[in-house]
Amino acid sequence: MTVPDPGRTSSIYWIGAAATAAMLVIVAAAGAWLWAARVRTIEAGERSVSALVRVLEEQTARSFEAVDLTLLGMIDAMSLNPSLPAHDARVEESMRQRLRLLPYVRALYVIGPDGFITQDTDHPKTPQVSLADRDYFQAHAKDPSLSLHIGEPLISRSLGTWFVSVSRRLDGPDGRFDGIAVAAVEPRYFERFYRDLHLGERDSIGLFRRDGIVMVRGPHRDGAIGTDWSENEVFRVHLPTAPSGTYRSISLLDREDRIFSYRSLETYPLVVAVGLAEADLLAGWWRSVAVTGAVVSALALLILALTSLWVKRRSEMERAVHHRIQAQKLEALGRMTGGVAHDFNNLMAVVASGLRLIRGRIDNEEVRRIADTASAAVERGTRLTQQMLAFARQQELTVVRADLNEQIAGMEDLLRNAAGSAVDMVIDVGSDVPSCLTDQTQFDTALLNLIVNARDAMPSGGTIRIATWRCANDDARRMPNLKPGPYACVTVADTGQGMNPDVLKRALEPFFTTKGSKGTGLGLSQVYGFVRQSGGDVRIASEVGVGTTIDLFFPGLESRGGSS
Ligand code: ADP
Ligand code: MG
Repeated sequence: MTVPDPGRTSSIYWIGAAATAAMLVIVAAAGAWLWAARVRTIEAGERSVSALVRVLEEQTARSFEAVDLTLLGMIDAMSLNPSLPAHDARVEESMRQRLRLLPYVRALYVIGPDGFITQDTDHPKTPQVSLADRDYFQAHAKDPSLSLHIGEPLISRSLGTWFVSVSRRLDGPDGRFDGIAVAAVEPRYFERFYRDLHLGERDSIGLFRRDGIVMVRGPHRDGAIGTDWSENEVFRVHLPTAPSGTYRSISLLDREDRIFSYRSLETYPLVVAVGLAEADLLAGWWRSVAVTGAVVSALALLILALTSLWVKRRSEMERAVHHRIQAQKLEALGRMTGGVAHDFNNLMAVVASGLRLIRGRIDNEEVRRIADTASAAVERGTRLTQQMLAFARQQELTVVRADLNEQIAGMEDLLRNAAGSAVDMVIDVGSDVPSCLTDQTQFDTALLNLIVNARDAMPSGGTIRIATWRCANDDARRMPNLKPGPYACVTVADTGQGMNPDVLKRALEPFFTTKGSKGTGLGLSQVYGFVRQSGGDVRIASEVGVGTTIDLFFPGLESRGGSS
């Protein structure tokens, strides 16, 4: 006998909830770990970008220091020889020697107070033009206190390449303006140096004049040199408050998150700044996100698989336990009922034979009527004990090989009568139902009991479906009382009121009825006792308001079809 256990579903919910919780914990842990890794990556990025800026500051300061020392040397040489002729071979040669030590300086030259070049490492290639209009010349001519001057990037009139002038003023013996010494520093050199640092396409290094004019941009961008960045965040917000710093910002140009670090040089009016794109910085981190995602998904699948396996095992176990308890209960009930019925049956036999003897000797009409009533009562009592014996599987079965389809066809009219006119009856026989050994009278009684129950469950009409079918091994295996093998099955399904779980649990017990004095409670107990005595089993599925389906399984005889 099999009835579903409604309590089972709640434990499955708990398992599902536990599995979901485990999955959430894993996802949360992975998320927290990834977040911490992201924070660490960005912090490391901030550290490395500020370290890089420090190195660049050092390198820039050294480079300009060397230029400055060279200029001072040139000024010394000039003031030692106030009456030096233009383009003195010795002086220009010593300037060329100095120039060779400064790879980032393209030329060194001295401009006289009139704006014309007097000493020049490029001589005689440089054209003879006045440079008196140049900013850097004007700056020194006008301001005697100006020591070192770094000019705006300019395009050389002779070569067409960018250069930045670094210059110092020459004072005559009387302190009047006597021209300037100039070094033409090439941004190209710094660009090459920055390129060798192998930054990403989206990263940038900038060397600025303190007023925001771009002197070098790495990686090289056409049109970047000479542009004014004084309105940029670093010059507008950060530099006025701190000479160095690191901050994060989103570029207005490309919407890219960057980490910026900058330093203002102590001794020269220059600023170096580096911007690292967070996307590049986080590329490795994104890879670990992908790997973690894959691992978490795999873990989730594993949990899912294990959980469903566990749920399956557990449901099977619970079903088996539930089934065993139910079967044990019916077994005990059967033994008790059987014992009582058996003794009672014997007593009935004694009473019946006594009555028979008495009736042969009666000549009084009134006494004969009393004896008739008593005989009828004894007969009813005997029928009752027979039904109890049926449940206890102790009745005598007259077993013959039967074809259930034929058996049902033979009693169709009887079944339709029993169902009543309010109920539709559909008979749906299978073509490959194996024949089986059964007691035909008991089979008819069982079927009739099921039809009457179905009718009772549908007081305002409905449908009864009777079906026969061959049951596969697997299906039988799910019924713990049944050995694997072919089974001849009969299903009686109705669309009636159904049974609630409490009724379902007790429906097979003898004398259990919900129909008050109209019910005997001996219908399903007969069905159960008979089917079990025939080596089969009964399965009930019922839902309140939907209907009831009862399956009877009879062991099939190996050779299919055909009755003897
Ligand atoms: P009775 O029909 O005399 O009550 P049964 O043993 O045939 O005794 O049935 C026991 C109880 O099982 C019924 O009282 C009823 O509550 C329930 N029952 C049996 N069959 C059905 C059914 N098809 N639909 C709904 N309830 C049923
Ligand atoms: Mg009944």
